[in-house]
This record gives sequence, structure tokens and C-alpha cells, in this order.
Amino acid sequence: MEQKNSPIEAARQTLIQLMQRKLPPTPDHFRSVYDEIMGVKSVDQSAELGKTLEKVLNAAGKKKPKYLAVAQAIGPLVEKGDWLKVEEQLTKLFPSSATGANVEEANWSNVIRNLLKQLEVSHKGVTLSRKKEGLSKVLVNFASDSDVLAQKIQALVNSWGLSGTADAVMSSEGTIAADAPSAAKSAVPAGSMANASQWRDMLLRAFELVIIPNLEAAPELHQKAVNLLGRMQKVSNEQSLIICAADLKSILLSLEMQRDQQSRIHESLLQLLRLVLASMGSMVQTEDQWLYAQTTVISDIVSKPVSLNTLYDAESSLKELVYKQAQIKPALTEAKDTLKKMVTTFVDRLVEMTESTSDYHDKIEAYQQKIATTDNIGELNVLLNNILDDTRSIGLTVQRTRDEFMNSQKQALAAEKRIEELTAELDYIGQVAHQDYLTGALNRRGMDEALEREFSRADRHNTTLCVAMLDIDHFKKLNDTLGHVTGDEALTHLAKVLKEVLRTTDVLARYGGEEFIIILPATPQDEAVKVITRVQRELTKNFFMHNNERVLITFSAGVAERVGDESPEVLIPRADAALYKAKHSGRNRVIGADNLPESLV
Ligand code: GH3
Ligand code: MG
Ligand code: MG
Repeated sequence: MEQKNSPIEAARQTLIQLMQRKLPPTPDHFRSVYDEIMGVKSVDQSAELGKTLEKVLNAAGKKKPKYLAVAQAIGPLVEKGDWLKVEEQLTKLFPSSATGANVEEANWSNVIRNLLKQLEVSHKGVTLSRKKEGLSKVLVNFASDSDVLAQKIQALVNSWGLSGTADAVMSSEGTIAADAPSAAKSAVPAGSMANASQWRDMLLRAFELVIIPNLEAAPELHQKAVNLLGRMQKVSNEQSLIICAADLKSILLSLEMQRDQQSRIHESLLQLLRLVLASMGSMVQTEDQWLYAQTTVISDIVSKPVSLNTLYDAESSLKELVYKQAQIKPALTEAKDTLKKMVTTFVDRLVEMTESTSDYHDKIEAYQQKIATTDNIGELNVLLNNILDDTRSIGLTVQRTRDEFMNSQKQALAAEKRIEELTAELDYIGQVAHQDYLTGALNRRGMDEALEREFSRADRHNTTLCVAMLDIDHFKKLNDTLGHVTGDEALTHLAKVLKEVLRTTDVLARYGGEEFIIILPATPQDEAVKVITRVQRELTKNFFMHNNERVLITFSAGVAERVGDESPEVLIPRADAALYKAKHSGRNRVIGADNLPESLV
């Protein structure tokens, strides 16, 4: 008989015990009863093997995350003894095809060959240093996983080829934003945190690479955007996200306004060219071939799509044209003076001829006086007609003079017609212009358009706006003591200071005489009051000079913020009422309007 503790006997006893205890003969039950009989603790080798495997995989996972994932997955499988699934998990670690390892090696050699080649090839819009920067980011971020690294390098190289058509944008991890959607599709479910962080990075990149460079022309706004980018990168809670979103909205609004302004500048420029052509072309065609040739050059430019180069070309032609145009007004006075001189000389000669006829002589003297005092072409014509009638009575001796007189009259009529034409042209230019010729601010027409534009923009973006109304203090006195011309210069000075202090998005218009309107988009009332007060302060530093003496100009102003969908017709009178208060509380001050329009009180 075998010993109880011989393995075969122990196994036999174990089976008997399992039956007596009514335990199913599972490996675990068998092992525990066998250990009991043998008086030892046997080793569960498969569990040990599972643990060892897990340990090795965990260590490998420090370098390659995919090993870590498998280590975590096999833990429970080993415990359950599900060896089939353990095998499945382990198989995942190796390429599925028999020649898998070779494929991976072949890929690397392809990737490197392609990388070297594409580094040397020039790609539109991608400099060598940008390529190196991208490559270095990919190397830093994916160095731990050679498979992913190969894929990312390949994607980076592909993006260089694409950048001419669709600008590929590097995300902060050094991957290509253009390939992000497919990665998201395969690896990350939509709406997950990973997806959100990808969107966040794309937004930050777009903000940094597209929006900020677009704001360079407006340094204040540019600085604001740079600060915002810094804050957006550090957003850590919902509160700061809300503040960033509001700031982003305001920057986007300013950007839209800038773009709008640029396209209006573009359109105004074209309009200016068309105007010059319309007003000058027909006027100069017959008498000034040179001028006519210039208008033809500009005609050509306006008819084609405008580019910066053609605009530069146009500028020099236009300068000459504007110079000639400025000469039209003096030419009108000159035409009148010439006519007057001609008639006076002629009458003088008549006087000499008719000295003997005292009656006639007296009449002519009276005409002479009238001619000297009139400036009016119509009156000159009437005088010429009267003289003509009187002359008839003198008879044959003045026949020759009469003919000359008729001739003079004809010339006078032609000159009058010409003056009328020129005046009509100048009137036309005045009517279609949007700017006030004296101050360079918008005129009423320009102001009406700006009000319509800014009010509908405020509606679209659901933002507020303010209107300020300015009136120079005691301007009548300045005119009376220093003269109207100095008054005009003071107006120009004020407009200049206003333009310097106001932001590029604010709109300045001359409302009438010495009154101005300012539209301050996206600005609450207290801030608008501050802006206008700043103009007041600036005026005390930036003096208006007359005959080398400082003349202090002050103004009073009323500022009103738009309430709800208030129209300009309601808002402007509210600003005016505040201006009235400013005048009546001592002048040289800025007063904000009451909060509600009268109709809502
Ligand atoms: P206050 O507004 O402080 O009550 O006094 P004020 O003297 O400015 O009064 P008011 O506004 O009534 O007078 C405006 C004066 O501005 C009247 C007019 O002679 C002058 N003015 C209006 N337009 C022009 C202009 O284009 N050039 C010049 N030089 N003067 C102008
Ligand atoms: Mg006034
Ligand atoms: Mg005034």
C-alpha cells in the first residue's frame, strides 16, 4: 500500500474527499483539498504566470502605452482562467500578418526616405524652419510609441503637400489639425473630453494664427487679443471661460467692424475715382487733352479688378487731377473778373466817343458805377442790354462800337453758360460726397448712412451703442473777435483732436455749424462719457493756435446709450437734451442722458 502522502495516494484521497464533501472537482477545489491532505501550500502556476505576464507588460507599458492597456485587460482574465481571451489580448501586441515585423520595418524606411525627400522639396507656404518645427513637435510628443510616431511623421509630411490648397494647421501636440477628424472618428467618441480638447486647441490655433495677425493695424485691439489668448490657454473653470467668451465676442465684433471699414474704404476709393471721372471727363474733353488723357487712364483702372499696384498707379494720376480740380473755383472768379474788365474797358471807350452828347454821357457814367459794384452776371447782362438801347440812339458814329458790343454780349452769354456748367459740376460733387469738406468728418449724408449701418450691426450682434452730441462753447464770440476764417480753423482743429482721441471704430460726423455727432459702437454710456471727457482733456493740452497765441476751445456734450431697439430719431434727441443740460450747468462738461427715453418713462 502506498503512503498517504505519496502524490498518487494523496490524489486518490483527494477525489474521495471531494465526493464525500459533495464538492465539484474543479481545479481550485482539487488543489485546496490536495494541499490539506499533503499538509503543504501548492503554487498556482497559471496564476503566477498570469501575474508575471502582467508585471512584464506593465513595465513595457511605460514605453509603449499599448502594452499597458493589454496588462490591464489580462488581469481579470487570468483570475477567471479565461486563457483564450488572454491569448487574444496578447496577439493584439503583434502585427497580424506573418510578415508583420517586416512590414513595420519597411514602413520606417519608407517614412524616413519620404521625410528626407520632402524636407528638400519646396512646398508653397511652408518654410524649411516651419517643417523642422513641426517635426520636432511630433518627435517630442510621440517618441514613446514608434508605430504612432511613424504615422504622425507620415501625416506631417503629407500635410506639407496639402498646404498649398488647404492650409494645414499644427495643433499644440504637433499633429495636423486637418487629420484630426479621422483620428477622432476612429479613436474618440464624439462629444468626449478628448474631442472637446481637440476643438479647444483648434480654436486657440485659429485665434493665434488668423485672428490676431488680422488685428495688427489696431494696436490696442491687438494687445487685447494677445492678452485674451493667454487667458484662454489657461482657462481652468467655468467662470473664467464665460469671461473669455464675452471678450472673444467683443473682439470678433471689432474685427467685423474693421473688415467692414476696409471694404467701405475700398468702395469709397472706387467711388472717388468714378466721381473724378464723371465730373472731370466731360468737362475737360474739349479743352484740355492732357487732363482728358489722365481720366482715360483712371477709367481703365476702375474698369478692371482693383489690385494694390494698379491703385498706386492711379494715385499719381489722381493727384494731378485733384490739383486741376482745385483750380476750377479760382477759375470761376477769374472768368467773372475778365468779363467785368472787358465790359468796363468797352464802356470807357464809349464814354470817350460820346463826350459831346452830355445826356448819353451821364447815363453811361451811371452804368459805369453799377458795373463797378456788381458781381452778378445776370445784372451785367441787363446793363449791357440797356447800354445797347442807349447806344442805338447815337447813330452811325457808334455803329462800329455797337457791333463790338453785340460781340461782347455774345461772349458774356457764353461765359455765363460755362460758369453755370462748372457750378453744376461742383454742386454734383458736393451732393454725392460723404465728407464735410472743411473738417474731413462725415457730412449729414455720411452720418445718416453710418447711423443705419451701426444700428443694424448692434441689432445683429445684440450689443449696445452710444451717440454723443458736441457743441462748441461761445463759438459766436470766437467768430466775432477773431473772424470767421479763424472760426473755420478752430473747427478743423477740434475735428483733428477728436479723430486722434476716438477709436478707429468710432464715427465722427459734422451735424451742422459747430456741432458734431459721434457714434460709439459696442460702448456703454459710462465708457462713452469717459471717451468724450478724454477729448476735452486733450483740447486743454493740444491748443488751437492763432497768430502764435493759444486759443482755448471748449465744448459741451451730451451722451446717450441706446435702449432696446431705439432708433436714431429717438436716441439723438436724448443726446441733445443731455447737451442742453451740459450747456445750462456751466458749459465745458460732458453729461450722460437719463437712462430711459421719454417715451418709456
Ligand atoms: P453756446 O453754444 O456755448 O451756447 O454759444 P455759441 O456762441 O456757440 O452759440 P451758437 O451755438 O448758437 O452759435 C453758433 C455759431 O457758430 C453761430 C455761427 O456764427 C457759428 N458757425 C456755425 N457754422 C460755422 C462755420 O462753418 N464756420 C464758422 N466760422 N462759424 C460757424
Ligand atoms: Mg450750436
Ligand atoms: Mg455753440
